[in-house]
Amino acid sequence: MAERRKLSNWIGGERRPPVGGQYLDDFEPATGELLARIPDSGSEDVELAVAAAAKAFPEWSGRSLQERARCVERLADMVAERAETLAGIESADTGKPLALAKEIDMARVEANLRFFAGAAQHWPTEAHDMGAAGLNYTRREPLGVVALITPWNLPLYLLSWKLAPALMTGNCVVAKPSELTPLSADALWEMAFEAGIPPGAINLVHGSGARCGQALVDHPAIKAISFTGGTRTGRMIAAAAAPRLIKTSLELGGKNPALVFADADLDQTVTGLVRAGFTNQGQVCLCCSRILVHENLKEALTQRLADAVANLTVGDPNLPDTDQGALISADHQQKVLGYIDLAGKEGGRILCGGNALDPDGRCRQGYFVEPTLISDLPTDSRLHHEEIFGPVVTIQSFASEDEAITLANSVDYGLAATVWTRDLATAQRVAGRVQAGLVWINGWLVRDLRTPFGGMKDSGLGREGGRWSLEFFTETKNVHLPSGF
Ligand code: NAP
Repeated sequence: MAERRKLSNWIGGERRPPVGGQYLDDFEPATGELLARIPDSGSEDVELAVAAAAKAFPEWSGRSLQERARCVERLADMVAERAETLAGIESADTGKPLALAKEIDMARVEANLRFFAGAAQHWPTEAHDMGAAGLNYTRREPLGVVALITPWNLPLYLLSWKLAPALMTGNCVVAKPSELTPLSADALWEMAFEAGIPPGAINLVHGSGARCGQALVDHPAIKAISFTGGTRTGRMIAAAAAPRLIKTSLELGGKNPALVFADADLDQTVTGLVRAGFTNQGQVCLCCSRILVHENLKEALTQRLADAVANLTVGDPNLPDTDQGALISADHQQKVLGYIDLAGKEGGRILCGGNALDPDGRCRQGYFVEPTLISDLPTDSRLHHEEIFGPVVTIQSFASEDEAITLANSVDYGLAATVWTRDLATAQRVAGRVQAGLVWINGWLVRDLRTPFGGMKDSGLGREGGRWSLEFFTETKNVHLPSGF
């Protein structure tokens, strides 16, 4: 468990207190207690961080791919060695179960680092032979100093997902994690220098989105912004980047449907929907918070699902049997409860859950909400359309595939979808018709880091993963050589 302490920024390989001397509080969601104080950084801190990154750029980008990979792989080794400690830090800062932080978050941090260390080395560049007119070959050049801005739900998982490809392609980085979950990034930075990443190649500034994040986005020396977070913030970042014509990768919110057809395997579907709906307290952008089920299966599915959800153990994230920990903050808890309240007013039927929870013991003041399943809401209910980002899942029924597709595509988002059926033709047809960047058939969150990841509509712009990340963090240059040269 992380101790209560005062964090600094990491600038040029050193811990630097905020220039303005101001700090923000970081609370532990499971207990409501103060966990740490973090720099309330502003434009002066960002200026120092960007200058340190720019200074480090010639040396870091001049290293060979193999040299860069050695540092990133060493960092992966260190993450694996210290996974237990890092998971404790992440669990305390986010409220997620300790076991989840270890098995999902830290395993993925290590995988991200190893994957991009390898992928960058195996990334071919192209050549086009023009015969007598010569040869074209394509270079992939680093951009320079790039900004990485990440949310609170998967703090180090998502930061390492951006950091590894940015570094492997030769860029220098200024990162800003969410002010709600700053601790694991601080721990990673400490390890990164030990792993051989040179001072200044990676810089970390803590603070609020409005002050520190905005200063980073607005800095004229930033050459690209890789952002994961809410759609509203994503739009502001896109607007700030547009006049400078710099690249943005925007991984935004979701309101993901699970389409359950009448022939679905009920056991497999129920198990899958519980995972898809409630992992990380429903605070995963990919969570399927809308279940659309064929009317012939609705009753059976609803009963089985309500029983399974009611059986989830909510409470102290440190306990091994805990399935659901705390939500990220008191504000977020109130937001989620507000949607449940609205459901009651709209005539929705709460099938299980529906309340805040005060576990016994050290977590009495934590921000817990029971896993909640709601049916019978009107089609235009805000609960069907807005991202709640908590343990609240709604159920609607459909009579035909066309109706299922209409419901699935009726929201502004288009991040992910799951399809539950035993019929391959249905699965493939529906996967083609649903508006989502990612579709899983009879499963959820099966990830292959080589594949494109990202959403359509209000869920984002661009794709991450595999070559898509490597392309984002590089500029493409074509060189023509005359024949006989
Ligand atoms: P958020 O409020 O948009 O914040 C994301 C990050 O942006 C945080 O570091 C935040 O800092 C910062 N930020 C806020 N305002 C900013 C500004 N004006 N300029 C620059 N940076 C700014 O999102 P969140 O509440 O942390 O995260 C939840 C959202 O992330 C959900 O919508 C979820 O779906 C989405 N998400 C998407 C994906 C995906 O891959 N598509 C993955 C995970 C999460 P502070 O926190 O310090 O304010």
